[in-house]
Amino acid sequence: MTCLTPSFDVVVVGSCMTDLVSYTERLPKPGETVRGKKFLTGFGGKGANQCIQAARLGAKTAMVCKLGNDSFGNDYVENFKTNGVSTDYLSQTEEARTGVAPIMVNDEGQNAIVIVAGANLLLNSNDLRKASKAIIHSKVVLGQLEIRPDIILEALRMAHKNGVKTVFNSAPAVADLDPEFYQVTDVFCCNESEATILTDIEVTSVEDAEMANSILLDKGCKSVITTLGAGGCVLTTQENRTPIHVPTRKVKALDTTGAGDSFVGALAFYIAQYPHLQLDEITRRASHIASMSVEAHGTQGSYVSRNNLPEDLF
Ligand code: ADP
Repeated sequence: MTCLTPSFDVVVVGSCMTDLVSYTERLPKPGETVRGKKFLTGFGGKGANQCIQAARLGAKTAMVCKLGNDSFGNDYVENFKTNGVSTDYLSQTEEARTGVAPIMVNDEGQNAIVIVAGANLLLNSNDLRKASKAIIHSKVVLGQLEIRPDIILEALRMAHKNGVKTVFNSAPAVADLDPEFYQVTDVFCCNESEATILTDIEVTSVEDAEMANSILLDKGCKSVITTLGAGGCVLTTQENRTPIHVPTRKVKALDTTGAGDSFVGALAFYIAQYPHLQLDEITRRASHIASMSVEAHGTQGSYVSRNNLPEDLF
């Protein structure tokens, strides 16, 4: 009998959002209608962004998520297929619409955003059960906080119990994170504002990030990475409590949207496909990849593919 157990490099349990972006001279006041100059749609959602980045780099990926049974949902399924992401553990529901983020941007680049998570919040334990074989036979399971936190925790717990490496990106920021997240996480990843909320240390420098990492490590995860935008990131591990500052490349930044997701997706890719590399080298490579994403406009559209990788990143 053939064994049909799926084996993925990276399984992402997370969100999908369709960005609906209108560009206008100025943002409307309540009750006002203004004319827009341009409208764009984009594929977003932290879970999907990270999954797409890992897939573009060559990871065998699957996305565990919930979409609406609507045109945005159908388009998202196609987007995953185009990027080689398995859609076997994705489902579409009649109960809610696909998650959307209507965004207005004015001439000064200021924005106003409404996020409607919709179907994302309906991903449940039953969906995880259906994906359980994929989760426990994968190399890395990756989660964020744009779906129900109890579902992410259940997925990470399932992976951790079965010896699968877990990467958790604590975004968007929450102050009251369930302490079990730290226990079931191998690599805990956050940005400056998330680290600030989780530790009560105002994180704006390498030194602040070093202190925040130490606090987060004490909560139980094996390693912590705090990203600092153009300042790179700081990695600290339980094994070696000396923090390592990993600078990033100096680039001409055109659009930093989704840089954090590019970083986390790349991190998952390297952990899965290069298990013998040290975490500081993995972090350096992920940082290089994220810096490439800020050199182009868009979110997923700016993520680098394997064909365009510099040699030292293989
Ligand atoms: P987030 O998008 O979650 O706020 P960051 O802004 O900290 O995440 O960025 C994540 C990573 O992306 C950084 O660690 C860095 O490697 C890269 N990056 C972000 N902004 C820049 C920039 N302006 N120049 C170079 N690299 C950048």
